[in-house]
Amino acid sequence: MKIFRGVIGIICLFILILSFIFIALKIRNNFFDHNYRHFFTQSPFVRKILNLHDYGDAQSDYLGNKKFPKLLIEIDSLNGYELSKETLEGLKERLQEICQKPSGVEIKEDDTIYESQENFSVSEVRDLEKTFRDYYTESGQAVLYILVLTTSKEKPTSVGTTFSETGIVVFKKTIEDTSNLIEYQREMEESTIYHEFGHLLGLEHSKQGVMAEKVEVVNSKISESDFWFSEEDLAKIDNLKSKY
Ligand SMILES: [Zn+2]
Repeated sequence: MKIFRGVIGIICLFILILSFIFIALKIRNNFFDHNYRHFFTQSPFVRKILNLHDYGDAQSDYLGNKKFPKLLIEIDSLNGYELSKETLEGLKERLQEICQKPSGVEIKEDDTIYESQENFSVSEVRDLEKTFRDYYTESGQAVLYILVLTTSKEKPTSVGTTFSETGIVVFKKTIEDTSNLIEYQREMEESTIYHEFGHLLGLEHSKQGVMAEKVEVVNSKISESDFWFSEEDLAKIDNLKSKY
């Protein structure tokens, strides 16, 4: 009888600990989030089981290069809103600079999406991902998924956002409406991707550099220094790398 009670007690304690971990993982920006969440999010399988798909949860995919020595960037775009060649070249070079993947960065311009709607809600973005996304992080390669669409339904001033731990959407029509200068539009599409990628690495908004909040909002004046990570954010990225 005593042994039976002991076993029940241990099971209850185990359930209690698991419930605590589960609840603690759902709340962001607390002690547990800052210090322990990354232990659970290093495996895409565990992320799936625990339903952890928030910004920063795939940082080890991108910053660890033992398990994931290659970075694949899959891009699906709305017809007529494809990213420019210079942006693709910039992405390849600069994400390699950040992630330092020994097997390099590959860009796959994949599907062209034919949809006539003017704007997209987050749930519609997720539906498009389900339909068109072909690659997910697995052993050997981390995947960054980029959707290029027109405008955000919920926040029409937004030029980009993250919608999962490995997914970014760029609102290219909103970017085009910002300025008549083609080169400025192009730089904006590139900086928007670096900004959102910074969130995927777990970075919050900063006062300076590409992580400034204004970078993802239309009609704000962006200067040369806003197109790349500030020294402070680069140091944060280096610090994150040392975890993996
Ligand atoms: Zn942001």
